[in-house]
Order: sequence, then C-alpha cells, then structure tokens
Amino acid sequence: MATGANIAPALKFSEEIEARSGQPVSLCYQCKKCAGGCPMSFAMQPYNCDLLKLIKYGEKEAVLGSNTIWLCIGCRTCGARCPNGIDISKVNDVLREMSLASGKKAGDPRTAAFHQSFLATVEQFGRSYEAGTIGLFKLKTASFTQDLALGLRFMARNKLKLLPDRIRRAGEIKRIFRKAREAGK
Ligand code: SF4
Ligand code: SF4
Repeated sequence: MATGANIAPALKFSEEIEARSGQPVSLCYQCKKCAGGCPMSFAMQPYNCDLLKLIKYGEKEAVLGSNTIWLCIGCRTCGARCPNGIDISKVNDVLREMSLASGKKAGDPRTAAFHQSFLATVEQFGRSYEAGTIGLFKLKTASFTQDLALGLRFMARNKLKLLPDRIRRAGEIKRIFRKAREAGK
C-alpha cells in the first residue's frame, strides 16, 4: 500500500512544475487532443500529453532527459485545443531550464544544442541569425562537414546571409534575457 512518503516526491515535482509554469498540469485527463494537433508529435517520444502523465507520476529523470521538451516549437496548438486550457509550451519552457540547470543530457543532445545556439543569436542581435545559429550548433556538436553541401547551396541562392541583421535597441532584448535568468526562468 502506498504511504505518504511514497507519493510525496511525485506531488512535489508536479507542484513545482505547476507553480513555475502557471499551468494546471494536474487537470490533464489524457484526452490527447493536444497530441492530435501537435505538429511535432511525429518526432516526439513520449507524446506531449504522456509527458504530463510522467510529471504527475513524479518521473523527474525521464521528464528532464526527454527529447520531447526540446522538440516543442512553442506553436501553442496544444493550449488552444486543451479542454482544460493547459499550455504545454509553457510547461516545456520550464522543463528545458530545469533540464539545463540539472546538467541532464537530452536523449539527443543535438536538439538542446540547437535550442541554445538559436537563443544565443537572438540575445546577441535581437533577432534570429541563421548563419550564426548554424555556426554555434556546429561548434557545440562538432559536426562541421555535415550538411555542408546544402549550406553552400543555400548561400549560392542568397538564402543564408553571412552577416546578421540587427534591430534597433538590441540592448532591450539582452536586458530581457538577463532578467529572465535572474528570475530563474
Ligand atoms: S506548443 Fe509544443 S507541445 Fe504544444 S502543440 Fe506546439 S509543438 Fe506541440
Ligand atoms: S488536451 Fe489537455 S487534458 Fe487533453 S491530454 Fe492534452 S493536456 Fe491533457
């Protein structure tokens, strides 16, 4: 028979996720409407709704090491379809930060490396910078020659600019990143 000591860790984990994401994870009743509309479901293992089940069970290791949290593109389709208004993209934001803070390796480290490379260029230039993202990603994953031919073709067709576009007041974006870090987001 389960004791209070047995179920406490599971509750602690799900309560932490609810508090940090502002999402009522405990209201999920596995109708799977979120997974049905998620454009990344084809690559997610587990599906986004199954991730919520793992959170409720307190499976912290499996959740923070999951590739699913890195594959989410933040389209928020799940939140729009969920009868209980659970926006899994906000849950995934929290889980990514927790995963990085815990030093956990994602199932496929390339997804985490791409996420970090993309955000680093947005922080630096105020908007996305594809060539910079690719360069950082290659450094992080030591995959310098992979997709080289494709990259050259993109450049030849002017689809991949070597220099970044900058926005006015890019410092404001850096401040947002800094404040988010200070807030532990
Ligand atoms: S926000 Fe993420 S989990 Fe939700 S539908 Fe979009 S890709 Fe899927
Ligand atoms: S749509 Fe909402 S309630 Fe249904 S499985 Fe997804 S998160 Fe849970």
